[in-house]
Amino acid sequence: MAEKKTQKRIGSAERDIVALGIATAAIIMFVGTGGNVMPRVIAALFGNGQGPDGLLVNAMLLNIALIIFGWRRYRELTHEISERRRAEEQARKLSEIDPLTGCLNRRSMARATEELRHECNARGQALAYVMIDLDNFKQINDMNGHAIGDQMLIKLADRLREKLPNDALLARLGGDEFAFVMPYDSSHSERIDDHVIRLFESVSNVYEVEDVAVDMTMSIGIASDHDEHGCNPLVNDAHTLMHRADIAMYHAKKHGKNRYYWFEPTMENELRFRNELETGIRRGLAQGEFVPYYEQQIDLESGDLVGFEMLARWRSPQLGMVSPEIFIPIAEDIGVIGELSEQLMVAAFKDALQWDPSITLSVNISPVQMRDPWFAQKLLKLLVEHNFPAHRLEIEITESCLHDNIGMVRSMIASLRNQGVQVSLDDFGTGYSSLEQLRSLPFDRLKIDRSFISELRNPDASSKIVDAIVSLGNGLDMPITAEGIEDESILDLLKSMGTLKGQGYLYGKPETAEQVRSRLSDAGRLNIPTERPDVSSEQEAVEEDALAAIRALRRAGE
Ligand code: C2E
Ligand code: MG
Ligand code: MG
Repeated sequence: MAEKKTQKRIGSAERDIVALGIATAAIIMFVGTGGNVMPRVIAALFGNGQGPDGLLVNAMLLNIALIIFGWRRYRELTHEISERRRAEEQARKLSEIDPLTGCLNRRSMARATEELRHECNARGQALAYVMIDLDNFKQINDMNGHAIGDQMLIKLADRLREKLPNDALLARLGGDEFAFVMPYDSSHSERIDDHVIRLFESVSNVYEVEDVAVDMTMSIGIASDHDEHGCNPLVNDAHTLMHRADIAMYHAKKHGKNRYYWFEPTMENELRFRNELETGIRRGLAQGEFVPYYEQQIDLESGDLVGFEMLARWRSPQLGMVSPEIFIPIAEDIGVIGELSEQLMVAAFKDALQWDPSITLSVNISPVQMRDPWFAQKLLKLLVEHNFPAHRLEIEITESCLHDNIGMVRSMIASLRNQGVQVSLDDFGTGYSSLEQLRSLPFDRLKIDRSFISELRNPDASSKIVDAIVSLGNGLDMPITAEGIEDESILDLLKSMGTLKGQGYLYGKPETAEQVRSRLSDAGRLNIPTERPDVSSEQEAVEEDALAAIRALRRAGE
């Protein structure tokens, strides 16, 4: 609307009625006065008269001045207008184009999609909207800096542009989000599949930017305005089309990234549920709905209880008891895992301070937390604030942590161990840690994943894998914990393999803090405060650990 008004104004200014009127009037008057004055001037020159009347000459000169003035003003005005036109065209382009990659931007893409959709439908064609989101781009940016990240986006846009047909439109919607729309024959949606597969082959790849090789993958969601049989238009506006492609892309992310999905209506319900979970988790965090449960860890040889693994549970008022396998990945995605873990650790430290000081506490740490360069310092602060001795704490990290940034993980582990915290490698055998990584990373313990242990129950199954892991642990001088011991036969087999720690349902399912307290009370292993007059040995240990850690951090800083 506003644009039209401006155009109108420019149009009328271009004609500049006033200047034009003045010039026209001056020309008419010039013809009148000139017609009168000039013959007299000529006659006077040849000595045939008295010459023109002075007033008329003045009038004619004034006319000439007016004509020159009108003409100059007209020239200036047209120049000014063309400059303004150019500036406006540039501003329009800038507002429609992403300055980094030269693609359309979100706003112009919506309009262009709508226009293209109308054109395609008039021609009897369908339109596919393909949403592309880079996997882990934030990490790439954090690790290599924004300049490298920008260069990667430019290269990526070039590769996309190269691969797209001429009738497709490409846009960068923001950050690491791209999209393209492409017309196709509605009964041949496989054309879109082919294109997307080719993009995966050529665009998801290694990018060399300023001598840094960055491996990049992408998740893609596709929505069409027609169903696969052709004629029925499914979607009647570009906005819904984009929204559906977004949902399908999100689905691809949730199902492991580096893949693509076409939109299906069931995805919308999944998304709604996921949104509810996200809001529930945020609310649950604020209202303290996340609670620690504890699973016993046993010395298999003596049968003694040596520690507990803290396992998170969500007591949701709406959903009941929710497993960490559901809420931990979401908490990681929405960036609250650090806060959640801290809340749980604080509760666990308080609980564990009531146990016999010989009982250790293990906590699981997410790979997302391990990417935080300040994680070790934050943990130390938490230990000191809650008077929890570092030597009683064991953190469990999984093999997936090792793929992110091995250098940082190594120094993090070293710094945690300097603080006195033990570090174990959880779910060992399910990831891809190499022998080299195991040799170079100073883990205190390996935990064999329960999938290998449960295999031992099967009489025909071979115990070779577990045997091999146990000897690997012996070779690397890393003690082993076996997870998921469910019955006596497994226990007997494990005992025959070496000196191990173990945990599993054979010893009981994870219990609440109160249940653990009553179990320990029955066994006479509660830490009764009256038994610790003056400064407790535990407190001394905390201070010693804290001092050692601060010294170690200072050394690292030097
Ligand atoms: P995990 O660290 O490997 O924990 C062991 C899981 O195995 C627990 O499941 C436990 O209840 C289950 N388990 C233990 N013994 C047996 C057994 O004999 N048989 C069977 N079938 N299962 C057994 P849970 O509590 O559902 O936790 C699942 C995973 O969630 C944990 O695997 C851990 O990776 C993660 N997790 C739990 N709490 C936290 C937390 O506070 N932070 C983070 N980042 N992850 C957590
Ligand atoms: Mg664990
Ligand atoms: Mg485990």
